[in-house]
Parts: sequence; C-alpha cells; structure tokens
Amino acid sequence: MGNAPGKVYLIGAGPGDPELLTLKAVRALGCADVVLVDDLVQRDALRHARAGARVIEVGKRGGCKSTPQAFIERLMVRLARRGCVVARLKGGDPFVFGRGGEEALALARAGITCDVIPGITAGIGVPAALGIPVTHRDVARGVTFLTGHSRDGGEPDWRALRATRTTLVIYMGMRRVAALVAGMLEAGFPADTPACAIQNGTLDAQSEVVTTLGRLPAAAAAARLGGPAILVFGEVVRYAHSAAASAAQRAA
Ligand code: SAH
Repeated sequence: MGNAPGKVYLIGAGPGDPELLTLKAVRALGCADVVLVDDLVQRDALRHARAGARVIEVGKRGGCKSTPQAFIERLMVRLARRGCVVARLKGGDPFVFGRGGEEALALARAGITCDVIPGITAGIGVPAALGIPVTHRDVARGVTFLTGHSRDGGEPDWRALRATRTTLVIYMGMRRVAALVAGMLEAGFPADTPACAIQNGTLDAQSEVVTTLGRLPAAAAAARLGGPAILVFGEVVRYAHSAAASAAQRAA
C-alpha cells in the first residue's frame, strides 16, 4: 500500500460459473489489497485474491438488507486514496444493470484511476447455458436487454419492442413475470411466442422452464423459480436444449 496512489479495478465476474471469469479479472484480483464483492458473485471467484487480501461484502440483493450505493462509492474512494489497489467485483458485466457506470463516474470525480474489466453478462451467458443463441441470424434481428424492475415503475413500450423483432432478454423480471407477460400479450405478442426463464444459470443449481409467453407465469410458478433469473422471449428459445440435455452437459 504505502504512498503509491491506489486504483480501482471494476471487474465483471461473469454470470456464475467461476470458470467464466476472464484472465484479466483473475490477474486484477491477484494484485488487489482489498476486494469489494457483490452478493451475486460466486465465492469461488475469491480463490484468485491474494492471500491476506481483505474481502468486504457489499451485497445489495433486491429487497434484502443492503449496503447503500453512496457508501460503497465513498469506501472505494477512501481505500484508493490510502494507496490500496481495490478490486470491485460485480456479477456479470459491471456496465450492464450493475451500477458500474455510477461507480466509474464517482471514481473519476474523485480523481481516482479506474480500470474496467468486462465480464460475460447474464443476458448472454445464461441463455447460452441452454444453447440459446440470442441473435440467431435466421430468426432474430438483434437482442434487446431490459430490466423488469425500473426505478420509476414505468412499463416498457412493448409495442415498440415488438416492432424491433429482436430477442427480448429481461433481467430482474422474475418477481413481476405475470405483469410483464400481461403487458406483452396486450401489445400483441402472440401467446405462443417461445419463452423461457432460467434461474441460477451456469451454476450447479441452474433450473429453467422452456415454454411459451402465455404459459410462462404458471410454468415458472409451478417450477418454483425465483431470482436470480433471466427471462428470454423470441424464436431463438426454440434452440434451447431439453432440460435433461443441458443437465448432462453441465455434468460433463
Ligand atoms: N451486471 C449483471 C446484472 C446485474 S442485475 C450482468 O451483467 O449479468 C441482477 C440480475 O442479473 C438478476 O436479477 C438476474 O436477472 C440476472 N442474473 C445474474 N446472474 C444470473 C444467473 N446466474 N442466472 C440467471 N440470472 C442472473
């Protein structure tokens, strides 16, 4: 630590499977004095921290006890000013629904060097665990990432989204799946649009339902799916392996 200026690595840890960390993430973890870790990050990732590094849990899972964002930002600034190399480890990619942008801005305002290390975002890596290619050329013109849980409580413009003919991938949508599906049906998405929900994707605890838009809320409830989960809507979902095939693949 000493008098050398500190810095912060804003690191994406990927969707869950610890082998989906990047080489760069592993290297940055290995040189950090302090690791600030979110609760969606698998603890296995911490194996790459150096012995003696301090680990601080700053989880803020929706609805549970949380560390306020401003506190996390102040803590990073304080540690870096003291000369620490800080690894800020976040689930998926730090800039995709991860508030990484806010943290990078706070660090820039404080004059602290921040290196961003991208990670595999859940919206790509989790469908891939089922064999779903989110932009499969013949059936999707692209992919749209959405949050099911907007800060202002507003609903997405489903009609406009339908017109894009892109695969829709919804983060943080499980708790509101019935309302989201109702909005989509009302906007004219066919009830037989292929749909799936995947919980704990890429992990041993992965579970999923592959169904249609109209049946998704009941199917997800019957399978007792909860968070963290990704919802995927569109023709690309037809490429999902059967649950048995993907379980066998994970075991391999
Ligand atoms: N920055 C993260 C997203 C953080 S928001 C990223 O790029 O992936 C948290 C949401 O991500 C969860 O509510 C869920 O929708 C999704 N998510 C993260 N990990 C997941 C996993 N292993 N399986 C399913 N969904 C996951």
